[in-house]
Amino acid sequence: MSTPKETTPRRFCSPPAPVTGWGRFPAREARLCANEDLPLVTPHATLSRGLGRSYGDAALPAKAGDALASTVLADRLLCFDPETGVLRAEAGCPLWRIIELFLPRGWFPPVTPGTKYVTLGGMVAADVHGKMHHSQGTFGAHVVSILLEVSDGRQIECSPENETELFDATLGGMGLTGHILEVAFRMQKVPSPWILEEVDTFPDVRSLLLALRDAGQRWPFTVAWADLLNPPPLFGRGALMKGRWASPEEAPAHPPAAKKSFRVPAVFPDWFLQPWMVRAFNRLYFYRAQRAKGGRVVHPETFFYPLDALHDWNRVYGPRGFTQYQCVLPVEQGFDVHERFLYRLRELKAPVFLAVIKDCGPEGRGILSFPRPGISYALDMPLSDRTQHIVDELNEIVVAVGGRIYLAKDALTRPQHFRAMEPRLERFLTVRRKWDPSLRFRSALSARLFGDQA
Ligand SMILES: Cc1cc2nc3c(=O)[nH]c(=O)nc-3n(C[C@H](O)[C@H](O)[C@H](O)COP(=O)(O)OP(=O)(O)OC[C@H]3O[C@@H](n4cnc5c(N)ncnc54)[C@H](O)[C@@H]3O)c2cc1C
Repeated sequence: MSTPKETTPRRFCSPPAPVTGWGRFPAREARLCANEDLPLVTPHATLSRGLGRSYGDAALPAKAGDALASTVLADRLLCFDPETGVLRAEAGCPLWRIIELFLPRGWFPPVTPGTKYVTLGGMVAADVHGKMHHSQGTFGAHVVSILLEVSDGRQIECSPENETELFDATLGGMGLTGHILEVAFRMQKVPSPWILEEVDTFPDVRSLLLALRDAGQRWPFTVAWADLLNPPPLFGRGALMKGRWASPEEAPAHPPAAKKSFRVPAVFPDWFLQPWMVRAFNRLYFYRAQRAKGGRVVHPETFFYPLDALHDWNRVYGPRGFTQYQCVLPVEQGFDVHERFLYRLRELKAPVFLAVIKDCGPEGRGILSFPRPGISYALDMPLSDRTQHIVDELNEIVVAVGGRIYLAKDALTRPQHFRAMEPRLERFLTVRRKWDPSLRFRSALSARLFGDQA
């Protein structure tokens, strides 16, 4: 399958304007330059940017006003082999388009994050994981090869067999090894285009965590939601969602129709979202989950992308924005550590408006890839004067127990904390320096955490 080039080349280059990640914090001026022929803009850019769904400063320039290569126009599917399931596409190809084309034909990406509004380049650069990490690993585990433009302009095809160090540094390397131009990865054949979902509720966080780990042994997709605003004894009560592809016998005869979606029309005022509103919403959500207990066949988008039903939902957090603090904590030392971590949130009066908990399986090959065996917590908090303190305190625990944070979500981690939780960092920086001695590729994140020149 291939998409022919249009005759008029599509391109744009915006004047300097503030750009943010999904959390709307921090903001930095950047020029976004895009061309359907990506190598025409990459030589002038210090970083690539996809659909800007990373939350913090990973897709922002190190220096205000710098040019970023926006990949969104380099979005062609290049070839697909139905024998092997290998799909090759340009880095700006959005995941939603791949799903739209391939799901009705019986194929789905083996790993998907919690939104379909990401590009293939962004999926590789963050080495994204999803509700299937315990069963499928990260996206990088399914990548066959990457075409990467490195700092001296050469285009290198790297893979698990060729230029392996560069390949491993690029998976989860947050765009700091070069511009990803093309990605080839293995799609998964699915028995039907529907998901069989089972929902359970749990009265406290310990039973929820135990059930999440246990479900991972039997279900390929698992995710938990916990209410961290409730006072004890209801603190951390939540719902566990388990899923698998429905068999043809279980699935409806017709393919899933496009889902209806809505848009948040404007940025809400700062005072709008109050903890009492979220508490009420959480209560409702919990009761709905109780009612939904048991098995049912659902639209894959309902299961994988519940938040995509509301476009621009990040505007609800107001002009200051929000942060998603995501860390993974090991389970080797048992669940006491996890409970202590969650109760520390309560002591800190952290306003966790959304808490998503995932089971993580073995570590992948990406040098800086986020997931490691354990449990991951993704915690959405509105930005306030206290947020930095909360993040510092949480990072102290993460360092002490041997966990780590996720760079694709981070905006506030301090360099000393990151170094302390990342023994792999030196190896990454060595490979990066080998391919980019003058550190041409840099971002606001690499300036903050690795001390790159702004
Ligand atoms: C609602 C929501 C749910 C999410 N759920 C999950 C989840 O479950 N699991 C998970 O892992 N992530 C999740 N994410 C995060 C998201 O998957 C990652 O941040 C992903 O990298 C975003 O892709 P993007 O195309 O928007 O990249 P951007 O945000 O634009 O960029 C992210 C990073 O990739 C780099 N990059 C992008 N394109 C290229 C390229 N062509 N070449 C080199 N570098 C490049 C950028 O420089 C930057 O460092 C979620 C995000 C949202 C908003």
